Amino acid sequence: MRLHLLITSGQRALGAMFMHKLDEDLLAFIYPNDAPRTFHTAFCPPMRMVALDGKGQVRFDQVLSPWKFVNLPACRYVVECGPTVDYRPCLQPILSVSPDLPQQGMLDDSLRMDNLLFALLAEAVADLRRIREAHGAEVRPEVQRKRFSVWERGQIVSSAGFLLDFSDEWNLPEGAVKLSHSVLQAEAPYLDELVAASVAGVPWRHEFPSHCMRCGQPASWHPILKPVHGAPPEIQWRYARPENAVPVCHHCAETLDLLRDEPLQLDLVWGLWGPRFEALWRWHRAWKTGRLPDWDPCAYPLWPPQFGGTAWESGSGALSHAEPRPPHGVLRSEQHMAALRRALFSKRFRGRQPGETQLQKLLDFQFDLSTGDPS
Ligand SMILES: [Zn+2]
Repeated sequence: MRLHLLITSGQRALGAMFMHKLDEDLLAFIYPNDAPRTFHTAFCPPMRMVALDGKGQVRFDQVLSPWKFVNLPACRYVVECGPTVDYRPCLQPILSVSPDLPQQGMLDDSLRMDNLLFALLAEAVADLRRIREAHGAEVRPEVQRKRFSVWERGQIVSSAGFLLDFSDEWNLPEGAVKLSHSVLQAEAPYLDELVAASVAGVPWRHEFPSHCMRCGQPASWHPILKPVHGAPPEIQWRYARPENAVPVCHHCAETLDLLRDEPLQLDLVWGLWGPRFEALWRWHRAWKTGRLPDWDPCAYPLWPPQFGGTAWESGSGALSHAEPRPPHGVLRSEQHMAALRRALFSKRFRGRQPGETQLQKLLDFQFDLSTGDPS
C-alpha cells in the first residue's frame, strides 16, 4: 500500500484523476481547516471516499462510481482508496501531518499542473461561456432544453461541477462560478440521464461506416425502436444509439419495404447487434411499462447491468463500453445470423449484388485504435 499525501492545492486538484485503479494506492487530501467540500469523480476509478474532521472523526464513508458529484460535510481530511481497502492503518500518519502548511500561491501550483488538466478547465470555461451566450445571467430550463442536445447538456453539467470543485482554491471568474451553480440547479431533475448522455449519447453517424449492409451502396443509418409518444427529451438519446440502428440504402429500403415491415426491421437490427440490441430492447420495454429496476446509471449509463453480459461483445452497458462503436466483434448466435439472412435475402436482388460480402465488411469494420509509436 502506498500512501500519497496531497497537501498543496495543486496536488489535491489532480487527486485520483487519470489513475486506473486505486488498489495499491491510498490518497489523503489534507486541508488547513474544517469545511464542507464538493468532490467530483470524473476520470476517477471506482473508489471509497472517507472524510474526517480535524478531530479525526469519520464524517462520511462511501463507495462511489465515476462521474459523481459528492457533497462532503465539514471535513479536514479526505481519503480516497480502492472500494475494498481498509484505510484505518493509514489514519495515524495522515492525522499527524501538520496542517499548518502554508497554502501555496495559485500561480506556483498552476505551473506544476498537468497540461491536460488545464485543457479540461479551459474546455469547462468555454462550455459555461456558451451558457451565458444562450441565457444571459439566468439559466432557464426551457431554453436549455431547446438550445442544446442532451449529450451537450451532459457535458455542460459535468463542466459546471468540475469548475465548482476548483472554485474554492482557484481564481476562477466569478461569473463562471455563479453560472455553474445555476446550471446545476436548472438541470438537477435530469442529472443522471444527462451525465450518461455526455458519454454514451455523443453523435457517431459521421464516423461510422455508412455502406448499405445489403448491397454496399452509400446508405444512412435507420433507427428502429421509437420512443413512446411524449417521452421526455432527456431519454431520447437512448434511441439514437448505434445498437438501435441499421445502415440501409434508399434502394434496398424500398425493395425490402423496410419502413413498413416491422418484423424485418427487428430481424436486421437484432441480427446486426445481437446481445447489445437485446439489452437495449429490455431497457425499452422496462421503461415503457414503468418497470425499470433501480440501478446506478453512472457505472452503467446504457442499461441496468442485468440486461446485458459483462463484456462489450455480450451486451454490457458499463461506462467503459458506453462510447458508440460499430458492430465489429458482437457475439452473434446462430439465431442472430439466421435473422440477418432472413432479412437480407427476403427479396430478390435485382441489378445489385447480394449482401454477404457487404455485410461482412460492416461486421469487420473497426476503428484504428493504434496507440502510436511503440517506442
Ligand atoms: Zn442497399
